[in-house]
Amino acid sequence: MKRLHSTLDRIDRKGYGAYKDLQGSYDLEGFTLFIDRVQRDPFAPPSLIRVRTDQNGFDQGLFQNQVRRVAFEDFLTRSVERVLRRAVKGSRGSGGSGRIEIQRTSQVVLPRTSMVVANGYVEARMAAGLPARGRTVDARAARTMLLEELPKVVREALTPAGVDETAAREHVETVEDADHLRKQLPGLGLVAFVADGAMLPRESGASDRPLREGAVAFSSPEEFRVTVELPNRGSVSGMGIPEGVTLVAGGGFHGKSTLLSALAWGVYDHAPGDGREYVVARSDAVKVRAEDGRSVAGVDISGMIGELPGGRSTTSFSTPNASGSTSQAANIAEALEIGTSLLLVDEDTSATNFMIRDERMRELVSKEPISPFIDLVRPLYDSLGVSTIVVVGGVGDYLDVADRVILMEDYVALDATQRAREVRESFPIPGAARTGEARPPRGRRVRASSIDLRRGKRETARGKGPNTIELGRARVDLSYLEQLAEAGQTEAIARAIGEFASAGESQRVKEVVCGALGSVERDGLDSLGNYRGHPGEMSLPRPQEVAAAINRIRSLEASTEKGT
Ligand code: ADP
Ligand code: MG
Repeated sequence: MKRLHSTLDRIDRKGYGAYKDLQGSYDLEGFTLFIDRVQRDPFAPPSLIRVRTDQNGFDQGLFQNQVRRVAFEDFLTRSVERVLRRAVKGSRGSGGSGRIEIQRTSQVVLPRTSMVVANGYVEARMAAGLPARGRTVDARAARTMLLEELPKVVREALTPAGVDETAAREHVETVEDADHLRKQLPGLGLVAFVADGAMLPRESGASDRPLREGAVAFSSPEEFRVTVELPNRGSVSGMGIPEGVTLVAGGGFHGKSTLLSALAWGVYDHAPGDGREYVVARSDAVKVRAEDGRSVAGVDISGMIGELPGGRSTTSFSTPNASGSTSQAANIAEALEIGTSLLLVDEDTSATNFMIRDERMRELVSKEPISPFIDLVRPLYDSLGVSTIVVVGGVGDYLDVADRVILMEDYVALDATQRAREVRESFPIPGAARTGEARPPRGRRVRASSIDLRRGKRETARGKGPNTIELGRARVDLSYLEQLAEAGQTEAIARAIGEFASAGESQRVKEVVCGALGSVERDGLDSLGNYRGHPGEMSLPRPQEVAAAINRIRSLEASTEKGT
């Protein structure tokens, strides 16, 4: 502590660069402060610091297995977030002076680099704007930040004395229960589960927080109700959606898309209070949508789309500008390539000509390369074992292919399977033999050399907010990845792509993804990127989103492997 004081005294009012002298570690009362990377000037990205407590006095039960540890780390990150908001004065001086921040969390619980709970200590990684007056060191403000505010954060957010252990226990147990519930799905023959009492609607289209006013709690139709035993909370009952083809029907604005979106987020665990704590789906579920304008590199979409104008083959389809239908076909083929057992499709975000073709159009248009999805959903399940949950309000043809129908009425889910059968018999569709055939798409090798990381003299691969990755001078747009939860995942994906590009080898997409995530599993998220000390702000992405990001690199070159 003395050393920190004397360094600060010495550099006071000097040029901002003098802060570099702070780099190093300091024994403070009850914890160690690491100043890993010092920013160049007050306007540059903030300095990276860590605080590590001298001991971990928390009840071991809070982190006794991997799931609990991740949940407890998530809890502590949120608790630091809260204390920072309260205890840090914030802006004082130029640029980012005086701000202290920890990685921002979303509604979901993920392994993150922001927090490490080890047997002997707890470590929080933060970013701090070292305070400046103009472009000179403001040692007084720095002293307040580092020697008053930070110790307060440690006391109130990282030690048993300051942390609400009851809330911590609830957090950890809820996540463990959700994880258990998700793992039970395959054994129960289910692809998703929505607990009675769940709150599905969100605050707004721009916010993933729960809707506070007037939300109708979920309640399962009797026919679909299943009860599952959970390790902590006892039993939970709710709607189990079996494997196969499930239709979600209903009038406009009756909650169909809200249900589907909750299922899409069900691949992740949620923080208590979210409302979707016990809404789970198969962890490899992929929501697929139309995304016209995206680039596609060498994807085998021939299972969905036949020969294109000019005799262009679709076994290795590339375009810088996909249409609604070809983009949706590519999204499905890519999901199958990386691996999925559940597709989620919403008519709101689908290309009409991809979803359906009616009799009149079959008659009028002879040159139609698209096999509509309606012809594909059954074979997808029957031959490939891939289930689908599809939201359809307007196209009754889908009644022909559904194993069951959930009807949303005034936000209430009803079982309309029997009624749908009657309707089908009363209004048969002539000639509606669904004759599609599903086969897995051919795999692809992607060329690392097609990704250019150079940007001036440096090489860059980094996330910019949740929706963009910067690779050299190029940007990858991820705004249509509806299951990407937070910026930390984007950052981790960017670094994984960076490592692949630097290694310079061509690999199958699945190998690239498994390689990156495999090393994370072995060495932790910290191992992505090569910083010592503070690794930056990352959260664990799913293989599906890593692959999706690779697939959206505009310069990407891929070659399709020979069909087997
Ligand atoms: P649909 O897809 O059937 O047209 P949405 O799912 O988009 O309908 O929902 C329409 C509106 O109703 C949205 O504003 C949504 O937030 C709200 N909503 C959905 N489910 C509920 C619910 N259970 N309770 C209250 N509001 C809901
Ligand atoms: Mg909708």
